[in-house]
Amino acid sequence: MKKFKLLLPALGLLGALAMMGAMPQSGEAPVVYYSKDINPAKLQAVYSKLGFAPSGKLAVKVHFGEEGNRNFIPPELLKQLVTGLKGTFVETNTLYGGSRGDTAKHLATAREHGWTYTQVDILDSEGETTIPYSGKYFDKVYVGKGMAKYDSFLVISHFKGHSMGGFGGAVKNLAMGFGSPAGKMAQHSGQIPTIVRGRCMKCGNCRRTCPVNAIDENFNIDRSKCIGCGKCKAYCPFNAIESASGPSKGPVFQEKIAEYAKGVTARGKFTYINLAMNISKACDCSATAPKPFIGDVGILASNDPVALDQASFDMVNRKAGIPDAFEHETGVSGLHTLEYAEAIGLGKRTYRLVEVK
Ligand code: SF4
Ligand code: SF4
Repeated sequence: MKKFKLLLPALGLLGALAMMGAMPQSGEAPVVYYSKDINPAKLQAVYSKLGFAPSGKLAVKVHFGEEGNRNFIPPELLKQLVTGLKGTFVETNTLYGGSRGDTAKHLATAREHGWTYTQVDILDSEGETTIPYSGKYFDKVYVGKGMAKYDSFLVISHFKGHSMGGFGGAVKNLAMGFGSPAGKMAQHSGQIPTIVRGRCMKCGNCRRTCPVNAIDENFNIDRSKCIGCGKCKAYCPFNAIESASGPSKGPVFQEKIAEYAKGVTARGKFTYINLAMNISKACDCSATAPKPFIGDVGILASNDPVALDQASFDMVNRKAGIPDAFEHETGVSGLHTLEYAEAIGLGKRTYRLVEVK
């Protein structure tokens, strides 16, 4: 674990956020509700503040956690809220196999991890469909076909690090979380890394981590197999893996995520909750669970996914006392995702923070 210098201990929460430039700049700034306590009653209270009135069938988008991961959201935390709303947990299969790579394994992993108290629906179990979108990268987004069965979506995201996005929250949960395998591939494509020979110590971590066996015994990456997930880079202890296509590709990946999130939200009515807890450098797709690098921050919720992720990002940084704790841990700044998401109209980065006592 890396140590942070606490630079902002004397500032109150609002003062610290104002210092980071995150205070609302107009009366139209979206509200982000916040509780520092993380428990079922507080989750219910924060959700109630959103004024979200689900119509029709409600999907609750979560992440069940890859087998071996222990940092994912504890299912019991959501039980009171989700059963009260009669929601159905929804997910999509992963691109890279693993314990959630097909519907049968995915359902078994969900059960094993305790997501048992309401129905579970894998949205791409019967194939995929498209939603039209007009952007810089995409003219459509590929999502699980089952998404059409639902009218309202409560997106509950674990706010934590991510090897390619810097951090993952509501925007990433929309983009990768609803994307079918083809949609996930479309977002990842172009992110094939390279191994820097002079720095590689042949420890083998990357080969063991790669979910699609794309790295051979001589530590060459097979570009026809690589899905650009970035896991090898995250687990290389010698910083020997770099994006083949140069640093400009980092922003491209982040822009693709933002475009996918915008495309997904064209269908149905959405609201969002982030749980900033068990915050490690790795996402819940990781089969190992790195130790959290900081203590729990709280529950945050908003009808605006960009404001919500910005507020979550600011609060983690405030606790860390540095401008970008995720960049410090992962080597990637994810802020451009939110900048681009705001530019394409997914939401606003300014917000008004309201504490729920
Ligand atoms: S994890 Fe890094 S150092 Fe180890 S074999 Fe792979 S590239 Fe080389
Ligand atoms: S990015 Fe690395 S871990 Fe991911 S598929 Fe490619 S070689 Fe494997």
